[in-house]
Amino acid sequence: MNKTLPKLNYNYDSLEPFIDAKTVEIHYSKHHQNYLNKLVEALDKHPELSEVPLENILSDLDIVPEDIRTAVKNNGGGHFNHSFYWSIMNPNTKKIPSDEFLSKIGDFEKFKKDFTDKALGLFGSGWVWLVLNEHGDLEILQTSNQDCPLSMGKKPLLPIDLWEHAYYLKYQNRRSEYIEAWWNLVDWEVVEKIFEKYNSR
Ligand code: MN
Repeated sequence: MNKTLPKLNYNYDSLEPFIDAKTVEIHYSKHHQNYLNKLVEALDKHPELSEVPLENILSDLDIVPEDIRTAVKNNGGGHFNHSFYWSIMNPNTKKIPSDEFLSKIGDFEKFKKDFTDKALGLFGSGWVWLVLNEHGDLEILQTSNQDCPLSMGKKPLLPIDLWEHAYYLKYQNRRSEYIEAWWNLVDWEVVEKIFEKYNSR
């Protein structure tokens, strides 16, 4: 496993005005880095896992020795989820999926409302995801803490981080404004590429 953070495809201030530079900087260089550090620290206790891809580990947490399983679930999930989150945002997006992907999502405004409602309704810290479920259908999923959809047998396509550290500096308690702003950053081309990758396996 690579022990360094994935490079961002943009600068800290590139997501302004939707997500402010200070939030991106702290979120990436402190919060995300901390998940990665703690993951590495846990895995160092079991070198036999060092060659196993993180996706495989999160897809089957039973392969992880019990003494580090909770640490790997939380910090491995934290590392995977954040890497995903950074990768699907882009300051220059079309803001709308292709016709082909829209045909799978259905009514785009309804989809955005359903996703937003789940994000607003999430209690405590966690994430909301668009995933491909075990039947091959698209599904909107809430996850708590740093739980990863891979551990639930779901294939992740689009995550929004709903921990307060993702928006509190700019939006304070106004989670709805953060979610509304975040839609402007979703890079549907990346989401669709991931979808195609899943379907070609
Ligand atoms: Mn976060």
